Amino acid sequence: MVDGATDVVVVGGGVMGLTTAWQLAQRGVSVTVLEQARCAQAASRAALGALWPLPMARAGAMQQMHRKSLWGYAAFIQSLQAASEVHVEYQRRGKLELLNSPDAARTAEEQCAAANASWPKIDDKPVMELLTDQQTLQSEPALAHAPHGAHLCRWSGQVNVDQLLAALVSACHRSGVRMIEATRVDRLESDGDRIAAAHANGQRFLADKFVLCAGTGLPAIAAAHDLAPPVTPVKGQALLLRVQKEVIRHIVKSGMIFLVPWQDGRILVGSTTEPEAGFDLTNTADGIVFLINGATQIVPSLKTAVVERVWAGLRPTGPKHRPVMGRSPAFSNAFVCAGHFKIGIGLAPLSGTFMAELVTTGRTEPGMEAFAPQSLSE
Ligand SMILES: Cc1cc2nc3c(=O)[nH]c(=O)nc-3n(C[C@H](O)[C@H](O)[C@H](O)COP(=O)(O)OP(=O)(O)OC[C@H]3O[C@@H](n4cnc5c(N)ncnc54)[C@H](O)[C@@H]3O)c2cc1C
Repeated sequence: MVDGATDVVVVGGGVMGLTTAWQLAQRGVSVTVLEQARCAQAASRAALGALWPLPMARAGAMQQMHRKSLWGYAAFIQSLQAASEVHVEYQRRGKLELLNSPDAARTAEEQCAAANASWPKIDDKPVMELLTDQQTLQSEPALAHAPHGAHLCRWSGQVNVDQLLAALVSACHRSGVRMIEATRVDRLESDGDRIAAAHANGQRFLADKFVLCAGTGLPAIAAAHDLAPPVTPVKGQALLLRVQKEVIRHIVKSGMIFLVPWQDGRILVGSTTEPEAGFDLTNTADGIVFLINGATQIVPSLKTAVVERVWAGLRPTGPKHRPVMGRSPAFSNAFVCAGHFKIGIGLAPLSGTFMAELVTTGRTEPGMEAFAPQSLSE
């Protein structure tokens, strides 16, 4: 059966597919999203919604792209709320990263100097600051200790991921995007240097252009055509604690553990990083112990918190932990947007706009060629 043609088929209805589809529809493009399961589930649903800028030490294309996306987050949420009529909680509470050694304190000092030299102040205060142990405990009295102080990043924000995804789904619907769920693309049909159709559920979906936002499902579609470098799953386990009243105000990070608090008593605890786990989505005793021990060592009063939910997700991870975004070298009308690893929620505003611009005009911003499929294949 041949389905009605559309301007653009987007494969995958995660945060990348939905943001790209919405941005394309805003530009007057007719868009169909094909999603193998349900939209807004998979990796995107597993995210904790923490939004802190990557360290200045990694300044380069990745850091710049992430910062640009984060700096535009408030405006993105505003236009998404207007388009969707769904409220999305977004706050900038700042992040305290506990410094666990003198070495970590020295590195943090360098980060502060570099960030404060080039990033705008927040409420007339430097965007980053080193706090002594006493200042740290004054700022967050529920912490157990902070022997080497903490690194405060005033910029760091947080978004309610469930609301963000609900808003994206609504904005897509309201702007005329066709969303077809339970429809797995099992192959792409080529015609010379172009993709002619996506095959799914025994149907052919025709389009002028195809944007592959299939996350960890990308290799299964792309491999036959050498369409993009590999995107692999990196499992992460996380959990949600509930307390009676707010115990911490900032995002608090110590080593691999981070806590994302909300005023209503929810505290999201992330996360494990398990690259060897493949596509396994189970919660393990080891993973849960790691998270609970980590959280209660940082804030001992969390021992009495209620564990409301545990889950696991598969972070789509591009080569060198970089996302793959751009036109496929294999086909003139195929585009890829996948592999955003641990920062896909933060990168969504910029990625959606970038992909929509590229697909409709062929233009890319300076610096973004670092993420093109051919750059990452080399
Ligand atoms: C535990 C955890 C915590 C995280 N915390 C944060 C955080 O605090 N901040 C942050 O910025 N990021 C965070 N992330 C990362 C973020 O979740 C991801 O980078 C992002 O969600 C990736 O979005 P995506 O749309 O590429 O992938 P997905 O959400 O996985 O979407 C891909 C979609 O493609 C569909 N698909 C696959 N194959 C096919 C096919 N053949 N046909 C049709 N559909 C297909 C899938 O079903 C899926 O719906 C976290 C991730 C995890 C796991």
